[in-house]
Formats: sequence, structure tokens, C-alpha cells
Amino acid sequence: MNNQRHLVVISGPSGSGKDTVVEYLRQKHPEIEVSVSATSRPPREGEQEGVNYYYMTRVAFEEKIKNNEILEYTEYCGNYYGTPKSEVDKRIAQNKIVVLVIEVEGAANIRRMYPDCTTIFVRPPSYEELSERLRKRGTEDENCIRRRLARAVEEMEYAVDYNYVVVNSVIEDCAEEIYTAIQERLK
Ligand code: 5GP
Repeated sequence: MNNQRHLVVISGPSGSGKDTVVEYLRQKHPEIEVSVSATSRPPREGEQEGVNYYYMTRVAFEEKIKNNEILEYTEYCGNYYGTPKSEVDKRIAQNKIVVLVIEVEGAANIRRMYPDCTTIFVRPPSYEELSERLRKRGTEDENCIRRRLARAVEEMEYAVDYNYVVVNSVIEDCAEEIYTAIQERLK
């Protein structure tokens, strides 16, 4: 791939608001396309197949790994998450900007494959804010929230490995900061 910088990896702990920021970014700048991941976690209320994720059983996910259809994957809080190759290959061939919203291990794997990809880490304004956002969201049970918070602390350590670190205090501002970063890398 000679245009690796078109591949944009965005990470940030659960509750950092990265999905909301990326959704805003996509709507405001439609030339940016967002990869839809596969997962074995069940859909949350309001999530849609093929929009938020491709939902599947663990067995179906493992089948995709075996068939070499997954670019990178990880297990996060007990579920598989992975990037289907089909989400990335065609778009990069067409010189499009593709955003992967993935956790830090997946990001490290993508960086190993595409060392010049663009990487952006989204931080919450504070740990307290993160914890409050996760609880307010009400999509996970307390056990899952605790696991996600513990994982958030670990993930924050990886911020130094990214090309850019942005703080998500105001969604619109954070999205524009990301857009500027992407443009800067394409100059
Ligand atoms: P959630 O369950 O909150 O939707 O996602 C949990 C975590 O998995 C988030 O950090 C999210 O960015 C990450 N994730 C989503 N899709 C992928 C993927 O395809 N690969 C990897 N490595 N992580 C993913």
C-alpha cells in the first residue's frame, strides 16, 4: 500500500466518546469513510447490523479468521472485535480515507502492517468524566463497566505511540482537530 497515510486509526478508551466524534466527522466530511468492524458482542439497543458492527457468533468470527478475512482482531472484555479486510482494501485502492475505530492492540497490529498509517488517540478530559460517561450511557452492567474502566487506565498508557493525541471535551472541536490532523498528514 503506497498511500498508508489514508489509513487512519483512531483509538481511545471506552467512554472517551470516540464513536460520537467519528460519527460527527463522517457527517461533516463525507469524503471520510469509516470501516465497520465485526464483533461477537451482542448489539446494544439502537445499534444496527452493518452500520455499527457486523454481529456474529464466536464460531462465525473464528471461521472468518480461519478464512483470512480479518485484517486484525482482538478479544476485548470477553468478545471478539476485528476489521474485515473487505472494509479496507477496496477503499485504499480507490485512494479513499478510511478510518478504523479500534482499541490499542489492534492499532499496534495495524501499525506493524502499515507503519506510515495515521494514528490518533482520543482522550477523555479526565478519568472521572470517563467513569461518569460510561455509567450514564447505561449500556453495560456494573461488572462490564469496571472491566472497561480498568482497561481504560491501561489503554491511556499507549497514547504516546500515536501520531496525535486529542482531548474530547467538545465533540465538534475534537472532530475538527482530527480532521486537521488527517489533512496535515496528507500534505
Ligand atoms: P464497544 O463494545 O464499546 O463497541 O467496543 C469495545 C472496544 O473495541 C472499543 O475500544 C472499540 O474501539 C474496539 N473495537 C471496535 N472494533 C474493533 C476492531 O475491529 N478491532 C479492534 N482491535 N478493536 C475494535
